[in-house]
Amino acid sequence: MNHRSLAFRLTVWYAVLLSAAFALAGITTYFGVEEYLRANLADSLQRRTAQVQKILQTATVPLSVATISSAIETQITPAFANRFVRITLWPDALVYRSDAPANHSFDPKLVAPPVVWPQQFKTRRVTMPGGGPLLVGSVRYVTAGGDYLIELGSSLEPIEAVRDRLLILLGLLLPVLVLLAAAGGYLLVDRALRPVDEMSHTAAQISIKDLDARLPVLPTGDALQRLSVSLNHMLGRLRESVQTSQRFLADASHELRTPLTIIKGELEEIVAAPHCEPEAADRVGSVLEEVGRLQHLIEGLLVLSRLDAGEAQRELVHVDLSELVVSTAEQMRLVAEDRGIQLELSIWRPVLVRGDRGRLKQVIVNLLDNAIRFTPRGGAVTLLTDEADSYILLEVRDTGIGIPAGAIPHVFDRFFRVDDARSREDGGAGLGLSIVKSICAAHDAEIDVDSHPGQGSCFRLKFRRPSVAAGLPQASAPQDDSGVFDSKGALRRRVIGSPSKLR
Ligand code: ADP
Repeated sequence: MNHRSLAFRLTVWYAVLLSAAFALAGITTYFGVEEYLRANLADSLQRRTAQVQKILQTATVPLSVATISSAIETQITPAFANRFVRITLWPDALVYRSDAPANHSFDPKLVAPPVVWPQQFKTRRVTMPGGGPLLVGSVRYVTAGGDYLIELGSSLEPIEAVRDRLLILLGLLLPVLVLLAAAGGYLLVDRALRPVDEMSHTAAQISIKDLDARLPVLPTGDALQRLSVSLNHMLGRLRESVQTSQRFLADASHELRTPLTIIKGELEEIVAAPHCEPEAADRVGSVLEEVGRLQHLIEGLLVLSRLDAGEAQRELVHVDLSELVVSTAEQMRLVAEDRGIQLELSIWRPVLVRGDRGRLKQVIVNLLDNAIRFTPRGGAVTLLTDEADSYILLEVRDTGIGIPAGAIPHVFDRFFRVDDARSREDGGAGLGLSIVKSICAAHDAEIDVDSHPGQGSCFRLKFRRPSVAAGLPQASAPQDDSGVFDSKGALRRRVIGSPSKLR
């Protein structure tokens, strides 16, 4: 159980308050019931005392003990009703004292007299030696025949037994009630917070590419409903602003493309003109190089803006990744050879993925181009495809300079370069890997990199295996006539021309 969670804290507060409320109610009930029963008993004793007074009124002038005794025995029935009755004539002459009660709960002879004779009816608690307590009410009664003290008592044991039973009941019941209420409270709070959980679950799934999704609006009419509505409005505004910046990026890249092509054409014409001075041709040549870089950069930005707009997802077909890797590697073999790098393939059978062939090729080109550029002469670059139970693997491994550990989390960020100067010299703008990452995201593929400075890097891509439901063609068959595998699955064919990296 999460001790910091809202549900837990609310439950603890709820249980503490509930325990306090129950404890207060229990204490009040405990003392209230005892008080009520005592008051009832005192009331009944007072009424009996009034009866005794009436008996005394008629039997004291002249004093007839026998009349008093028989009247009390018949009207009050002390022995039968387990009551104590005593009448004393001032100062201490005993006129009447009841016999031991039927239940023998006390011995009437041992009941101590009060210190003072009260003018008004007054009760006292008398503890009997070896027996239970008695509630004894007494009043001084003055008649023409003398000054009497009337005492009437009854055992407190039944009342105290009820009180003790109540205490046991409350002691057992209250913790159970508090536990039940706390558990119920926890479940209720947990249930009440479930919509918030759903909201956060949905919110966690909303990515920058999926800003059309909305959180479920909770019809609670309270802060939760207002929160979900406000978050949805915020998502709407976010979507507009992302779309605006995507449109801006796409429009700006698109608008820059044409003038750059014109500039490039014009410059090429100037260089090619017969009267162009060699010094001017040199200068125009280096401007042309910069224009080339700019064109690459703009192409890269355009690709990213299209990927951001979800364009790559439109044309998904089955692509033999092995064949694509082999043909791309063949196209780039010359570049590798120029740089003194050995290009190796570890490809044994066709592997199918579902995707956009052009974009997948761009991924291979970008990774391969980086591997070649960041590997010193004499090194090796290996391309591997493989098929696991749950995914299709593509690996581009090199024995190059590697990437420092601190830079690894950033290599897929836009415009990130570990070594600015070197990368720029090579024409890199830091967009190559972010394009790879975007294409992977569009293909639901995972990409990670493992790299050690001075030892080399390994970029590993995991594609989902195309499902049978998506109409999987025979994986072992070559994809077309110009496929790279012969009928036995062995590698064949090389290709012409070299594709370029988008960076
Ligand atoms: P660029 O086009 O500038 O190379 P990328 O996005 O392709 O940009 O790569 C970002 C940075 O990651 C590069 O500048 C480079 O420092 C580093 N990098 C990428 N691939 C490799 C590799 N195979 N070996 C070493 N460093 C690499």
